[in-house]
Amino acid sequence: MIVGGGPVGHRVAERLRHHGHAGPVTLLDAEPGPASYHRVLLPSLLDGSLTPADLRLPDLPGVGVRHGVSAAGVDRRRRQVRTTEHDRIPYDTLVLATGARPHLPPVPGLRDAAGRPLDGVTGLRSLADAARVRGAEVVVLGGGPLGVETAAALRRGGRNVTLVHPGPYPLDDRLDAEAGALLTRRLAGLGIGLELGRVAAEVLPGKLVLDDEWLLGWDTLLCCTGVRPRTRLAEAAGLAVRTGVLVDAEGRTSDPAIRAVGDCTEPAGSLAAGWEQAEAVARSLAGRPAPYGLDARHRPVFRLRVPGLTVGALGGAGAGDDADAGGEVVTYRDPARGRYARLAVDAAGRLSSAVVVGLPHALAVLSQLYGTGAPLPESRLALLLGRAAPRPGRGPDLPPEAVVCRCNNVTKAALATAWRAGAHDPGALAEATRATTGCGTCAEEIRGLCREFAEGTP
Ligand SMILES: Cc1cc2nc3c(=O)[nH]c(=O)nc-3n(C[C@H](O)[C@H](O)[C@H](O)COP(=O)(O)OP(=O)(O)OC[C@H]3O[C@@H](n4cnc5c(N)ncnc54)[C@H](O)[C@@H]3O)c2cc1C
Repeated sequence: MIVGGGPVGHRVAERLRHHGHAGPVTLLDAEPGPASYHRVLLPSLLDGSLTPADLRLPDLPGVGVRHGVSAAGVDRRRRQVRTTEHDRIPYDTLVLATGARPHLPPVPGLRDAAGRPLDGVTGLRSLADAARVRGAEVVVLGGGPLGVETAAALRRGGRNVTLVHPGPYPLDDRLDAEAGALLTRRLAGLGIGLELGRVAAEVLPGKLVLDDEWLLGWDTLLCCTGVRPRTRLAEAAGLAVRTGVLVDAEGRTSDPAIRAVGDCTEPAGSLAAGWEQAEAVARSLAGRPAPYGLDARHRPVFRLRVPGLTVGALGGAGAGDDADAGGEVVTYRDPARGRYARLAVDAAGRLSSAVVVGLPHALAVLSQLYGTGAPLPESRLALLLGRAAPRPGRGPDLPPEAVVCRCNNVTKAALATAWRAGAHDPGALAEATRATTGCGTCAEEIRGLCREFAEGTP
């Protein structure tokens, strides 16, 4: 029995069947609606580029899915889950995939006397949250990836948007100051108002007071100010919980009959990490254990999803200075054209971290080299200008083992196999391999591969 039908709970159900688990599987999801969906694509609803139907995850044949039904309690002694529909569902193994909820900051006036957010105040985590965004004036609180991508999507959708961020520039925990300055300039160029180094001091109906007493009007106040794991069910059941549910390498909680995966667990990871957990739990329950453990494929790669704006950070905050460790630091600056890169290269010539702005081909190649741990080509300049190595998705030079969709670890070879089996467009390839169904940044590379495959035998 799985509680939670977000991307990670959905993945557990799908992988259970894939690995040959034959017993009945039930999935409860509190969210109404016909199916689970790609949460990470919610900003695409705000600029109108996708509809809710486009976000839908594949159906789960052979799984008893109940949407709009919550687990209200767990009776561990009887191994039963009590639902909000007052029935009791028995389980042999329970998998908690209850995810996380948006954290609304404790700003005076943001909630009414009953503790509910004021009308027009929302986070962005669900289809219902996206539907709550209304009116011409939107203030976005928080300049992390979600805040920046959401602000840009709202602007593309024709709204007046102001982004309020306490740091000196958006994404200040991922970019260095030079990259941050270029990003700030580009966002301002898109018509996004930026209130940097400011925090919200008070919320009034339709007005936000900043700490310098500046007033911003809003129809929607969108809080992109972090999330908190949803652990109420686990806590009430007496499981070990700190900030999230504590689990081992196969997702076991302090009760061996209950597993937990995804954003409700600790330490909270990325969606890719949640999917790895889902795989480990499904294999373990299907009798083919392969414990969860992050490997080199999941070296942190961040790419901002704003069309026409390339911003990436590989390997942690900013490009650290590796010169002390016998490595080198390469910096490329072209501020007039909005281009910047700073690479930290270790003594063996491998990329240890990078920050890249405005150089899409360089970012694609660097991500590839960083993912495989291959040494950089000798000419760093050629690399930065995108001339040193094959550009992913562009041309037959891309080796078969190259990972194209990093979220789902889908290689070019796997895509070619799916193509030969009849998946001849990006949608069919997504269905067959799950490529593009994570963060979506590989969509262009997949379209490029479709063209390449169509031109010759893959
Ligand atoms: C706009 C956006 C962009 C994002 N971009 C990225 C990104 O680029 N990279 C990345 O790594 N992550 C990203 N994330 C985060 C990513 O979406 C989460 O890591 C992922 O959704 C976690 O999946 P999950 O299944 O663990 O939890 P969730 O997606 O939170 O799903 C949990 C589900 O459980 C249900 N539930 C909760 N309690 C109960 C209950 N008692 N009974 C029944 N059902 C219950 C909830 O209704 C929900 O449907 C993004 C998130 C958003 C909102």
